[in-house]
Amino acid sequence: MELCNLSVIRSLMSEAGITFRKEFGQNFLINRLIPEDIADNCTDCADSLIIEIGPGIGCLTQELALRYKRVVAIEIDRGLIPILDRTMAEYDNVTVINDDVMKVDLGALVEKYADGMPVSVCANLPYYITTPILMYLLESGVKFSSITVMIQNEVASRLVAKPGSADYGAITAVLNYYGTVRKLFKVSAGCFTPAPKVDSAVVRIDLYEKPLYEPKNEKLFRNLIRFAFEMRRKTLVNAISAKLPYSKEQIISALEEMGLPDTIRGERLSTEEFVKLSDILS
Ligand code: SAM
Repeated sequence: MELCNLSVIRSLMSEAGITFRKEFGQNFLINRLIPEDIADNCTDCADSLIIEIGPGIGCLTQELALRYKRVVAIEIDRGLIPILDRTMAEYDNVTVINDDVMKVDLGALVEKYADGMPVSVCANLPYYITTPILMYLLESGVKFSSITVMIQNEVASRLVAKPGSADYGAITAVLNYYGTVRKLFKVSAGCFTPAPKVDSAVVRIDLYEKPLYEPKNEKLFRNLIRFAFEMRRKTLVNAISAKLPYSKEQIISALEEMGLPDTIRGERLSTEEFVKLSDILS
């Protein structure tokens, strides 16, 4: 079924008696080349379990089903389930789960469906909840090979930003702790219905098999990033000493040990430098 065709989408939805739900970030793809490109590029291993978040009526799901061994798609909107039952009927490697991804025990899900296969995530994410979903995936403890998501182009630029640039933020520093991030391609607003106000982009995160950095005190490492960016216009010394039980002298001496000036702002530190700083302070 041509699931990126506007009249097909409209008739499937009207037959099911539903309309687009803005609160679920429903912007469906209407350019069939985009789901093909996302599915082609989301992992290098055909024998994978792919977890899809928010299948909608299934346009990306069917492309994933054609390329990968098994697909588990998690959709929050109950109204879309009868449509997915119909559009996915011919794919026996697809399982649809009606739930909020933020409530799904991903470890248990992988245990149930992966059967030893590598696991990747692939999704055209609802924009209202992009960062929480990314953090939920990264902190789930599941060893994903890759996470490929379509998100707002502006957010994508933040995820791939270099330290010291205006786009660099806490999410960038945290993501670089888990893996490497690449922006694959941009997608214009006109490729969706209803069209969002902004363009999108597809990013792929390749997770490190073994952690590249192992901070002695992970909580401190995360807090340093958090507070450095919460008060990004302050110097790192002022931002950290205001929130954590370290004196300015202690922080200055740690920065000196790293060869960094005491006037530096947190937004200039790479993930590796945040790890080093937390190791010295702890
Ligand atoms: N995959 C389809 C496509 O590319 O056309 C739809 C993508 S649309 C941007 C986002 C989808 O995520 C919608 O189907 C929406 O109902 C679903 N969704 C929103 N919040 C969700 C959540 N918390 N858990 C699971 N699915 C969610």
